[in-house]
Amino acid sequence: MSTHKLRNFVQAMTRLADEAPDEAAWLERGEALLRPLVAEDDWLPESCAEAGPGYRQYLLHCDPLERFSVVSFVWGVGARTPVHNHRVPGLVGMLRGEEVSVAMHPTPEGPLREGATDRLRPGEVVRVGSAADDLHWVANARADAPSISIHVYGGNIGAVERQTFDPATGAPKRFVSGYSNAAVPNLWDRSGG
Ligand code: FE
Repeated sequence: MSTHKLRNFVQAMTRLADEAPDEAAWLERGEALLRPLVAEDDWLPESCAEAGPGYRQYLLHCDPLERFSVVSFVWGVGARTPVHNHRVPGLVGMLRGEEVSVAMHPTPEGPLREGATDRLRPGEVVRVGSAADDLHWVANARADAPSISIHVYGGNIGAVERQTFDPATGAPKRFVSGYSNAAVPNLWDRSGG
């Protein structure tokens, strides 16, 4: 498996982090870097593409200073997340299959109100904000196959203290997602190209 595409992306994101851009600039410039990465589906290590019954979050790379992380998010058939926030900015680029994201909005009465639905197809990239009330739930849009999206966050997303929400009451619950893999792929062996 040739790893130069992911290695080049990680290096470009590291240079971006060195410039310490604000959230809007990080999202805009990060999106411009992620688009070409997800435009071609020929670089993801197989070990980070394996689907389970629910969803899996394989860490591809975490910046040593935890300024950003790159995750392969693999959806099993029928998988969906709870309603959640992120607390760091994020970019979601569709690599394989299709996913659907539904925005949810807090209301003064309690129950969450459903907002816009986004359907994400291969090569497309969407953004998520860091605000505590920037909520959504996400699901595999394919009923017959796994789907995979590549996520980039402005922090070590698996370790970020964030929340899931009960849509019926709006009640938040502490959430630290962790990762599905014990080892990250080796991006630094250049013998494969
Ligand atoms: Fe999300």
